[in-house]
Amino acid sequence: MGKFGAGLRKVLGLEKQSPYVREYFYASNMRANIYMSAIIIFLECWMIVRTTRKIIIGEYAEPFSYYFDVYYKNYFLLLGTAVIVLLFSVRFLRGKKDSHAVGQGLRYFFCFICIYFGIKISINDYSKGEQILTFLTMIIYAVCMQIWKPLPGIAILTASYAYLFWRLSGIPAHNTGLTELTSATKINGFTMWLGTALFSFANYNRILMQALKDEHLEEINAHLNEISVKDELTGIHNMLYFRQEAEKMLGYVTTDSEHLIYLFLDIENFKSYNQKYGFHEGNALLVKIAQTIETAFKGSLVARFSDDHFVVLTSDETCMEQIGKISEQIKLNQGEVHLDLKVGAYKPDDAETDPSVACDRARFACNSIKKHYDRSFRYYDKTLEKQFRLKHYVVNHIDSAIEQGHIKVFYQPIVSTQDGCVCGLEALARWDDPQYGLLPPGMFIETLEEYRQIYKLDQCMVEQVCRDYAESAKEGKPFAPVSLNFSRLDFELCDIVGILTDMAKKYGVPMEYLDVEVTESALADRQDLLPNAIRNLRKIGYKVWLDDFGSGYSSLNVLKDYQFDVLKIDMQFLAEFGSNEKTMPILTNVILLSKKLNMLSLTEGVETQEQFDFLRSVGCDRAQGYLFSKPVPLSELYRKFESGELRIKTAENE
Ligand code: C2E
Ligand code: CA
Ligand code: CA
Repeated sequence: MGKFGAGLRKVLGLEKQSPYVREYFYASNMRANIYMSAIIIFLECWMIVRTTRKIIIGEYAEPFSYYFDVYYKNYFLLLGTAVIVLLFSVRFLRGKKDSHAVGQGLRYFFCFICIYFGIKISINDYSKGEQILTFLTMIIYAVCMQIWKPLPGIAILTASYAYLFWRLSGIPAHNTGLTELTSATKINGFTMWLGTALFSFANYNRILMQALKDEHLEEINAHLNEISVKDELTGIHNMLYFRQEAEKMLGYVTTDSEHLIYLFLDIENFKSYNQKYGFHEGNALLVKIAQTIETAFKGSLVARFSDDHFVVLTSDETCMEQIGKISEQIKLNQGEVHLDLKVGAYKPDDAETDPSVACDRARFACNSIKKHYDRSFRYYDKTLEKQFRLKHYVVNHIDSAIEQGHIKVFYQPIVSTQDGCVCGLEALARWDDPQYGLLPPGMFIETLEEYRQIYKLDQCMVEQVCRDYAESAKEGKPFAPVSLNFSRLDFELCDIVGILTDMAKKYGVPMEYLDVEVTESALADRQDLLPNAIRNLRKIGYKVWLDDFGSGYSSLNVLKDYQFDVLKIDMQFLAEFGSNEKTMPILTNVILLSKKLNMLSLTEGVETQEQFDFLRSVGCDRAQGYLFSKPVPLSELYRKFESGELRIKTAENE
């Protein structure tokens, strides 16, 4: 019974319906009302004109009061109701949300009037020996209008049929004079009743199915909309939503654009939190922080930008207070890791500024105070504006700079501690720009890495170094093995090992003349790509150096997991040479360690003779720094060799 009962209840329209379905039916009814009432209005007008014409031309001879009673009263009643229903329905479709009860009431009333009219005319017709067509027409009308809930509709139908046939059974038939209805008429009446009743159910169910389908589609759509603007992890909005809404907000005249401010929030050290507590805990904290930010900036636009980065569009009047609150909250949750909230802010000059650009600027301001432990907030100001422009210049001009030869190789000599002779050269990039002048790598390397363009520069460096070797060999000039700096991204974005091999072949550079420097931070990510590339390079026969050793966190692990030929000790150690007494024992032991692990040791940033003497005394193999030479162009390097300022190992002085 259960399933069947439920099915039956559904077909009969006894089930409770969702607001959506109810609204759908109501709207369908309102639309049907328009056609129905329009037809009635047309018909009744026509009937009024027709009757009046007949009275005027004298075809109808009774007194006017007779026609008024029999025709006009009914015509005007029907016409008036139809006009009211029409106006009401049109109002609804044009968006006026009047009470449903009024609409339903009106519809029932209209329906009742139609049937009343049908019955009245049909009784009249029947007594004159005509058919009961008006009743049938009006019944169909009523059925079409009663889309909503079939049962009341059927009840009205049944009552109407019963009433009409009861009335007809009292009228003598025109042909036989009998008052009793014939069985044929009764059967016909029943069939008509059944037909209209079934039609009523069918019509109702057809529209119900459509309504349920639409409701389902709408639910799916709403869900899709929701997930397309929500950040999956934190549940707050994502950047797609942020950009859309920011654009809208800037367009409103009511927005107080003078006080608008974009904030870029970054939780410094979040990586360490992840490392210490695991991704699961890290994610949980991110969710918490996202909620804190959203609560603090209630009523403003808040979104997750990426990782541990968030953006806010708010008013500058209260933002400092809220930032303070968020920062406190983060401190409460940081556990044993020192988390630090950094905020960059950008105030748009005018509402025209594209939200993406504005976020970029706020982010730039935020990045500029990273690792500055004394600062946690910075406005995007004139100084940053200059740097920002340079950054965009770099990204947009790297291709043409390479093409037009603005990227230059400078060489910095590496000296053997045993005899002070140059035993290597580090190739360092310079951008000789027609607009900005000679740019040091600090002004473009990071940007090129961020925009994943660094491989273009490194390829260009490889080719130039190979070409320089070929030239020096041709002219019999002194040259030494060159170490090239490779970015972690080179291995990801191009086949840098293949390019190195090809170039060496093309310019005839022996393998011993090309070394590769990679930094330990590049290895911290532990992607398979780089370790494989390192193994591959060494297998082919190239020497791989570990650059900037000691500047990161996981140095010793890197030494445990990979084999290098040269260990390049970061210049940070020597920078504190005179001031920090622990420097000497640390350096001594790192150098010892490198020997134990079969690596040559090289210390960078040697600026004084005292430092050099110390390094030699503790067994460091090589040294590099301003004491010997700054990075210089090839011609300058030749000059230094010729003048004797630098000595190179040759057959004569060996
Ligand atoms: P790095 O590989 O650690 O290069 C050493 C940097 O220290 C060079 O800065 C050099 O000029 C500087 N230096 C050398 N001796 C001394 C010294 O005695 N005292 C001081 N204070 N500094 C010294 P530079 O040329 O500005 O390069 C900076 C960084 O840019 C490099 O650090 C390297 O990481 C990156 N870089 C340079 N050229 C390239 C390149 O062609 N490709 C890639 N991927 N990175 C490059
Ligand atoms: Ca280097
Ligand atoms: Ca270095």
